Amino acid sequence: MSISVREVTKLYGSQKALDNVSFEVKTGEIVGFLGPNGAGKSTMMKIITGFIPASSGTVLVNGTGITSDNPELRRTIGYLPENNPLYPEMYVREYLGFVSSLYGITADKKRIDGIIEVTGLSPEHRKKIGSLSKGFRQRVGLAQALIHDPQVLILDEATSGLDPNQVAGIRNLIRDAGREKTVMFSTHIMQEAEAVCDRIIIISNGKIMADELKENIHSVTGRTRQVIRTEFDRPADQAMLLNIRNVVSAKHVSGNQWIIEAEGQEDVRPLIFSFAVSNNLAVISLQKEESNLEEVFRLITGG
Ligand code: ADP
Ligand code: MG
Repeated sequence: MSISVREVTKLYGSQKALDNVSFEVKTGEIVGFLGPNGAGKSTMMKIITGFIPASSGTVLVNGTGITSDNPELRRTIGYLPENNPLYPEMYVREYLGFVSSLYGITADKKRIDGIIEVTGLSPEHRKKIGSLSKGFRQRVGLAQALIHDPQVLILDEATSGLDPNQVAGIRNLIRDAGREKTVMFSTHIMQEAEAVCDRIIIISNGKIMADELKENIHSVTGRTRQVIRTEFDRPADQAMLLNIRNVVSAKHVSGNQWIIEAEGQEDVRPLIFSFAVSNNLAVISLQKEESNLEEVFRLITGG
């Protein structure tokens, strides 16, 4: 199932939480929705899941418009809200049964057992939700989002407040779910988006700042900076290294190793290689250091 967000604007009073937002999520994609606090991530997700209406614009799920009175369509969506409202007095099993009845299905014992297994709740499934740790409560939240086997999964900050082991567990769950579902998850953590998703959408102040496949996200800054670590077999001349097209700096590290920085989209490695050949140097190593998502994010959101 696909998600199509078209020119969505959301006003809270006079504040624009979303400003003419458009993007598509294709069937089977895992999309990371990345942005600083207050960017509009949760607002967008509440609109996609039909919990609040947009002020203007439309959201289509598999071609059909999302509205609060379209229970059929909402049933195809699993949603983990940011402040996952759980019922502390309910037992885990009881809660999952209750949630499935809200979706208009009766999850039998087998279905509930299956979900408890998949979400790693087995050791705690006899407890009351209120007595669970934050990590397990988050798993209950995921279980309720998955209980009706939705084709679309919307997860709002699914790993916030969890310890590293719990984070790893939840990320694996998201990746597994992503094999057969369309997944959109929000995060303000760069590494999370890098670790889990196929595509990254960056939002800031209610506006989409970037929408790229993960491997292309660095190109969106417009001023791509490439950092290359290289080693030659003999000493090289710094002035000559600086003559290579697009190279803006050449730092000597040690021995015959250099860190070369270049601007622009053109891959500078072939140019360094040609430079070496024409100067009778052998290239021992030539390694591109990826600028990380965090850096891209700071550049785009100006934070
Ligand atoms: P994010 O999830 O990216 O942190 P939100 O979507 O929660 O961002 O919020 C976007 C902006 O809208 C923020 O400035 C927030 O204060 C504001 N906002 C969110 N919900 C409400 C609301 N119910 N009433 C008024 N303002 C809101
Ligand atoms: Mg939020």
